[in-house]
Amino acid sequence: MDAVDRIATELRRLQARARIGSATAGLQRYYRVTADTPPVIDAVLLSDARIAAVPVRDCAEPLIDLRESAFEVDQRQADAEGHWALLREGAAHRLEQAQRALPAGYRLVVVEGYRPVELQRRYFAEHMTFLRERNPEWDGNQVRRAASAYISPPEVAPHPTGGAVDLTLRGPDGRLCWMGTEVNDTPEESDGACYTNAANICAESRANRALLHAAMSAAGFVNYPTEWWHWSIGERYWAFVTGTELARYGAVSQTRGPYGVSPSRRA
Ligand SMILES: [Zn+2]
Repeated sequence: MDAVDRIATELRRLQARARIGSATAGLQRYYRVTADTPPVIDAVLLSDARIAAVPVRDCAEPLIDLRESAFEVDQRQADAEGHWALLREGAAHRLEQAQRALPAGYRLVVVEGYRPVELQRRYFAEHMTFLRERNPEWDGNQVRRAASAYISPPEVAPHPTGGAVDLTLRGPDGRLCWMGTEVNDTPEESDGACYTNAANICAESRANRALLHAAMSAAGFVNYPTEWWHWSIGERYWAFVTGTELARYGAVSQTRGPYGVSPSRRA
């Protein structure tokens, strides 16, 4: 049995066990991607006003360090304060469920979890400045809309809530699974292959994405359809997609906030 057959068999087993089809049926309208290459996303994006309109009642769960549990945390987005390895406690528990839902030999590889809201604000402001300088005729709304297409607006950004995680897979042979693009490849770099349901990827990548999708969906995470690696739970985007009235994770400040860890206090 070659790798693709093995993955397909495991996926069928997993789907039967977790009844993924029924669990995700309500999400299909947000994930539909046309067969065009590059694919056209028919999805609600983070910059949509409906996402910002979702109310948040923060449950005040702490951020915990995934390196202190059984997760493999990749170094590629590592920062000196260790923010990238943090996730809300409840989200980390769900991630353990996703890990258990994977077929034997497969492991989740965490690339990035929490990102301080201060950092998100700075990235966004810098990109607004960049666009304003190059397009002096644009009004404030135009600048903001264009910036939102590239960087998530801070008030709705998933990573600063500690409820979003970027992930890939390691396979039974010990190597990282090929997922069709690298994590964080842009639509321009990848000819749209970074879109979760992209048609222009090989069969093995498609099967690997399906495996990741099945395990993460079974644990309650939702995917952002322009990035196969991005999954979230508890924050505004998740609440909107799942039809949950209130988000339970709002943005966590790097240094303030009643429940955010203070990285400087960590060893
Ligand atoms: Zn992400």
